[in-house]
Amino acid sequence: MNENTDFEMNARDGALVESLMRIDIMTLFPDSMNAVLSESILGRAAAKDIIEINCIQIRDFTESKQGQVDDYPYGGGWGCVMTAQPLKSCLDFVRECAGERKTRVIYMSPQGTKFDQSKARQLKDDYDHLILVCGHYEGIDERFIEECVDEEISIGDFVLTGGEIPAMALTDCVCRMIPGVLSDEECFTGESHWDGLLEYPQYTRPEVWEGRSVPEILRSGHHANIKKWQRKQSLIRTKSRRPDMYEKLVFTEKSDKKLLAEMETEEARERDINAEVQE
Ligand code: SAH
Repeated sequence: MNENTDFEMNARDGALVESLMRIDIMTLFPDSMNAVLSESILGRAAAKDIIEINCIQIRDFTESKQGQVDDYPYGGGWGCVMTAQPLKSCLDFVRECAGERKTRVIYMSPQGTKFDQSKARQLKDDYDHLILVCGHYEGIDERFIEECVDEEISIGDFVLTGGEIPAMALTDCVCRMIPGVLSDEECFTGESHWDGLLEYPQYTRPEVWEGRSVPEILRSGHHANIKKWQRKQSLIRTKSRRPDMYEKLVFTEKSDKKLLAEMETEEARERDINAEVQE
């Protein structure tokens, strides 16, 4: 095994201040991942020790003298498969550094269960340590998955060249829900996908841009009316853009039922106008 000094330093620092969520990402490309994950909101949260994100070079753990981490697939076929040994040694090292935590080992894979906001919430609520394994080339030796992986997660029905972008997406999504990472819980509880709705449209200055004005209501200062408008826009958007999500919604609030009635009247009016235009 080669030296892995940077990571060992992180591991020691982490032991002094226990972060609320620790994410260790096993990858062949730690530098490019570090560059992205240490920026902006996540970077600031890590500096405050609220979260801890480590990217670990799998290659540092290979017992091959040539630094090899992959080999030809049994049975033939295109490409190379990542070998189990460096992955297992890397995982053992990460587990040892992290100590006693509620850990979940996740292999980022196009064959896994599809990632979404509720999956992210579940990971945040049930664990305080995620180990994300990024595959590359044709994937990784199945025996490592059987032996060491708790769960496979996909970010969608498409295939990428590596698990790095999926791991960064998962890390970002989970970490921004950790208390203290964003300034206020409302930052994410009001957002798209939190409660089965898409968010309403957002505007900022200037008031008029390219001849387009910010909706009058948002400049009215009337809080209750603004909230009602935003809720209605959320419902309209979800209904038109994501009918699959809209179908699953259950409305119990009187205020929502009123908005739905308004929407139906408006839709009927629009249908009449369209019919008149076509005549
Ligand atoms: N041969 C594999 C695909 C390998 S893609 C197959 O057909 O199933 C190479 C690596 O990219 C995978 O090991 C995985 O870690 C990552 N990857 C690719 N697409 C992904 C997706 N949609 N979600 C999560 N990880 C993905």
